[in-house]
Amino acid sequence: MNGIIIAASRNRHKIEEIGAITEKFGMKIVSRDDAGLPRTEIEEDGETFEENSLKKAREIMELSGQITIADDSGLMVESLGGAPGVFSARFAGEDCSDEKNNEKLLSLLENIPYKERRAKFVSVITMVWPDGEILSARGECKGHIIDAPAGENGFGYDPLFVPEGYQRTFAQMTQEEKNRISHRAKALKELERLLSERN
Ligand code: IMP
Repeated sequence: MNGIIIAASRNRHKIEEIGAITEKFGMKIVSRDDAGLPRTEIEEDGETFEENSLKKAREIMELSGQITIADDSGLMVESLGGAPGVFSARFAGEDCSDEKNNEKLLSLLENIPYKERRAKFVSVITMVWPDGEILSARGECKGHIIDAPAGENGFGYDPLFVPEGYQRTFAQMTQEEKNRISHRAKALKELERLLSERN
């Protein structure tokens, strides 16, 4: 190992997934809490996933003085002009549940036929170095929003999202299956490509 990277996320699962890639490049990932950083809240007030992801990475890099990695993700529905987008986590209000967000999405799409319910999940992963270098990797997973939740796995909008080429929602897939085709998997693949070009 020739360095450590601080993860701006607190989500263990995301940290492990990202760490599996960065380890190939000699960088071990450490969560912000394990690095002993203060538990400051970072306001996600950007208009794009890129802005929010960069903001999180920069703020934690400034606190830690170390290379930092952050991700931001969400769902964009074509017939809603890209909503909920950066508001995905708080679509139905601050601190609301996944169920409430899903209910709001379904009510906005009421009477819209399946072929017009196109949507995509987006993930942007950003790495920031103390000398100002930035790498930003975007991944997208296209699909449709169905008209009633199906499946028990996953989180967020997974029970409503059927990826292109499948007949099941993300919530009806195993975690391994979802992780092979997800927006985050694609962003991680792109990050791996950018890191190998850099070396
Ligand atoms: P964050 O990037 O972890 O802040 O996620 C933002 C929000 O987007 C989450 O709270 C979910 O509502 C939604 N989201 C992001 N990725 C996924 C996913 O893989 N499945 C379902 N919902 C997701």
